[in-house]
Amino acid sequence: MQAVVNTDEGIRTVQVGEPDGEGVRISVASAGICGTDVLFAGIGLTGFVYGHEFAGLDEMGQGYFIEPTIYGATCDECRAGNPQRCTEDGHGNLGIFTDGGMTERIVVPSYTLLPLPPQLPVRDACLIEPGAVAWHAVRRAQVREGERVLVIGGGSIGLLAAAAARHQGIDVDLEARHPAQLAAAERLGFGRPSGAYDVVIDAAGSATSLDRAAEVARPGARIVSLGVYLERMPVPGSAVSQVKELTYVNSVAYGRYQGVREVEEVAGMLAGNPELARTIITHRYPIADAREAFRVAGDRASGAIKVVLEP
Ligand SMILES: [Zn+2]
Repeated sequence: MQAVVNTDEGIRTVQVGEPDGEGVRISVASAGICGTDVLFAGIGLTGFVYGHEFAGLDEMGQGYFIEPTIYGATCDECRAGNPQRCTEDGHGNLGIFTDGGMTERIVVPSYTLLPLPPQLPVRDACLIEPGAVAWHAVRRAQVREGERVLVIGGGSIGLLAAAAARHQGIDVDLEARHPAQLAAAERLGFGRPSGAYDVVIDAAGSATSLDRAAEVARPGARIVSLGVYLERMPVPGSAVSQVKELTYVNSVAYGRYQGVREVEEVAGMLAGNPELARTIITHRYPIADAREAFRVAGDRASGAIKVVLEP
């Protein structure tokens, strides 16, 4: 069967053996390419099958999203509903240093499975993963009634963060840069930026977007950072961040809230609003074309928002 790995020559679809071991065998139906995958391929990470955003069918034909967090379940963080902060040995993510879902079949622990609501097609369900990243960021912002919220970045995480905010009853504006992103934001009905904000969610993740977030923040505002920074986070200095007494909030992955899996809440949001997947998934490729799919995903000029592999 086929699987997607990174090599000295870049991303390649290769032949691998059938998976074995303890768990549930899933035939993967959709696997999204994340900005992190493009980043990891670019810096040459090899040795595992890529893909942490994926959904598929079990041997009975039941559709599942696979929550890719691998955790121990016994540490304080896991018991508090934060498996993304697990402190035990073996904590990690399928598709990041461990074989993931860009493959035809995978065996996963049963606790990772989320049965799909009937209204959510398995070919769209890979979007639950970036959706949950976005959903968790909105929750981390602890938005209060009447506060103004801006999302910076019109990629899949930014669009899904704005959608999550709106789903949670929060009015939200979105700032995007690229034409395809602006068109998507318009289609989904998010406002354009104006004035100052109590909460800024930075889904672009660059020095420029952190500067922009601080600029549009009201004094005392919270800035939620979703960026991935390999070394340091380039937060603007005293003249802005400290004079305004800004609070920076980190948000990584997702977990449980009052005992409910955030991935389950997002599955409900996507099932109830098919327009989200229709707008955000812009490209689909067979797994054999992973190299081209990665190229398109990494090229903003391509008009891509979310690129999905269909093994
Ligand atoms: Zn743990």
